[in-house]
Amino acid sequence: MNMQRKGIVLVISAASGTGKTTLVKRLLAEFPRFGYSISCTTRPPRAGEVDGRDYHFLSREEFLRRRDAGYFAEWAEVYGNYYGSPLQPTLDMLARGQDVLFEIDVQGAAQLRLNIPQAQCIFILPPSLPVLEQRLRGRGTDDEEVIRRRLDSAAREIAEAHWFSTWIVNDDLDTAYAELRAAYLAATLAPTLRPGLLRTILAPAG
Ligand code: 5GP
Repeated sequence: MNMQRKGIVLVISAASGTGKTTLVKRLLAEFPRFGYSISCTTRPPRAGEVDGRDYHFLSREEFLRRRDAGYFAEWAEVYGNYYGSPLQPTLDMLARGQDVLFEIDVQGAAQLRLNIPQAQCIFILPPSLPVLEQRLRGRGTDDEEVIRRRLDSAAREIAEAHWFSTWIVNDDLDTAYAELRAAYLAATLAPTLRPGLLRTILAPAG
């Protein structure tokens, strides 16, 4: 692990069906320096999801109690459930020099950008709404009403994406991954992450 610089915060948002989770998994697998911010949610676990690995699954009461106690760096209501990112684990990971990756919705990303101004916010876009619709239908997991709802909220989220620092259109997965990787690597080169570097380089030899 290269500890010569401070850790960065990478925030990735996208409408569902855009391939965000696949891209995130690839990035985490390639760069072990990443810690992942495990969110809390009030939605029930899906098949295969593990409490404490995919999410911390909480009751609404417990979620609201933590929210009111200032436990979250950001939180939002998405599709009728609460989601939030615990603050302390992120601070701990950054203190250890890790990079921290968040996979959260647009409202949460906007809050994080306010709380952590140096966060790099990346939005993954589908090539078009008809392509997104095709992909959502192709999954074969959702009924018509769910697909309509996801498409509506996709259009709303995409309309909000203007303030993100990076846009990646996921038309071809390998190209999108190459762009995500490049955006991450570029972010790790910011001078603010290596405050002592110039002094070290200029120090007389010996
Ligand atoms: P899902 O229920 O499909 O896992 O996630 C639904 C949406 O909630 C996705 O857009 C996901 O990125 C977002 N999400 C997951 N965790 C968080 C979180 O901690 N905060 C916010 N704001 N959104 C989240």
